[in-house]
Amino acid sequence: MVQFLDTREDGFAAQFQSLLGMKREDSPDVDAIVADIIADVRARGDAALIELTSKFDRFDITADRLAFSLEEIAAEIAKVPPAERAALELAAERIRAYHARQMPEDQRWTDAAGAELGWRWGPVSAAGLYVPGGLASYPSSVLMNAIPAKVAGVERLVVVCPTPDGVVNPLVLLAAQIAGVDTVYRVGGAQAIAALAYGTDAIAPVDKITGPGNAFVAAAKRRVFGRVGIDMIAGPSEILVIADGTGDPDWIALDLLSQAEHDESAQAILITTDAAFGDAVSKAVEARLQTLQRRKIAGASWRDFGAVIVAQDLAEAATLSNRVAPEHLELCVADPDALAEQITHAGAIFLGAYTPEAIGDYIGGPNHVLPTARSARFSSGLSVMDFLKRTTLAKMTPGALKAIGPAAETLAISESLEAHGLSVRARLDALNKGEL
Ligand code: NAD
Repeated sequence: MVQFLDTREDGFAAQFQSLLGMKREDSPDVDAIVADIIADVRARGDAALIELTSKFDRFDITADRLAFSLEEIAAEIAKVPPAERAALELAAERIRAYHARQMPEDQRWTDAAGAELGWRWGPVSAAGLYVPGGLASYPSSVLMNAIPAKVAGVERLVVVCPTPDGVVNPLVLLAAQIAGVDTVYRVGGAQAIAALAYGTDAIAPVDKITGPGNAFVAAAKRRVFGRVGIDMIAGPSEILVIADGTGDPDWIALDLLSQAEHDESAQAILITTDAAFGDAVSKAVEARLQTLQRRKIAGASWRDFGAVIVAQDLAEAATLSNRVAPEHLELCVADPDALAEQITHAGAIFLGAYTPEAIGDYIGGPNHVLPTARSARFSSGLSVMDFLKRTTLAKMTPGALKAIGPAAETLAISESLEAHGLSVRARLDALNKGEL
């Protein structure tokens, strides 16, 4: 049975705190293995990639075949049924349109001192996207990572994807093609991350690595951060639903299960103002768990990490939700827009009964790569901003330098940075003597 909490009961604060503090992820100590793999790829390049691919993905490859050829891609893509192709194309179009609106504007202005100031945005030159392939591969994740990069204007976009026993999911290649990926390499794990960060003969290095992966991939991303940029280290999925009792309990049960079925460590929480409704949802979950294909995974997640919380009112529900800072938040209430006003921390909000979270996973338009493990308190989902850099601009006129330069000189002297101060003073003296 899932745990039931009630905010009016004694002990609620402690129970809620332990829900927040649950350690859901095993973090096996893979760091030493990953350090060795990265060192090996740095030292031996493609030879290491070939050897590690044979060891972990059980197939032999040569350096000239690390990248899929155009013929191989065409042959794989031809296997994709038309309905799946059409769905991917619709998803890509909607994701592209949504992300195009995220492009920020450059700024340039002259301030009261006469200084011209501003900033301008520019893309990273090359990005590498990790597509997990060991156990499951999600073509939707290819679109969600690659399209923002293309919208940002990234010049070179590559995918790395392990192909265990040499087998690839054709939908992954199709999604890469639709999104405008330049090259797909059949390597995975820490060795693929090392190749993207440091480069080999076959794989030129990139500036930013994004995309999910297992513990080896996550540890490798942590290790190469600094050499390259990374997006985030994504943890197990989460959903929180706030319901006022006006919805269909079965719909909400399915929404909770849609995240629970991802992973035994996923977390699904219902907060409702109606105890009887909470009971009905819990019963609906149990009923669905009788037949759901992934019932073993979803059942374990629901039992171990799920919760039904009865709140006194929607304001209290919002306060609790803000403390959870969930990755996905559904507002299944009569007036979702009013409730959304009270939400301060959530990766993505889904408003109203007709917006199941799964719409956001595939086709809605917003990104499905979202902050987990309460990190929505301080971070956001993947966007075009992850592939852009901001460069600041400053241009002094003689008048502006005269106006603000002396204060810079004063601060430089106070920090004992003589050359700093002199670089300003030399110009001020020339200006004051009328040399300029
Ligand atoms: P993966 O591609 O992340 O990892 C497979 C690779 O791991 C192998 O190619 C191998 O190089 C490496 N590896 C495996 N065992 C190793 C060992 N003993 N030593 C060194 N390297 C080893 O694929 P996966 O394993 O299927 O994991 C996928 C992960 O990605 C899962 O945790 C899944 O939950 C997550 N995922 C997340 C999303 C998302 O959007 N958040 C989407 C898809 C998958």
